[in-house]
Amino acid sequence: MNKAVKKKRKALAAQNDCVACGCCVKVCPFSAIQILKGITARVDQDKCVGCGKCAKECPASIITLEEVAV
Ligand code: SF4
Ligand code: SF4
Repeated sequence: MNKAVKKKRKALAAQNDCVACGCCVKVCPFSAIQILKGITARVDQDKCVGCGKCAKECPASIITLEEVAV
C-alpha cells in the first residue's frame, strides 16, 4: 500500500508585506482571496487550486505557491 502523502500547490501571501492593492482578488478565478480589514490579503486554502494567477499579478511579489499536504 502506497502511503505517500498527497500534496497540492496552494498560494500563500506574505501578509506583513501586502499593500492591499486588491490585484490578486480581481484575478483569482475562484474568489479565494480576501483583503482582511482592508490591510492584508488572505488566501482561503480550501478554495485555492494553485493556478498561480495571483502570484503573477501581485506588484509586490509576495505571493508564493507552496506544496502542502492535503
Ligand atoms: S493560486 Fe489561483 S486559485 Fe489560488 S488564490 Fe491564486 S489565483 Fe486564486
Ligand atoms: S496583489 Fe499582492 S500586494 Fe496586492 S493585495 Fe494581493 S497580495 Fe497584497
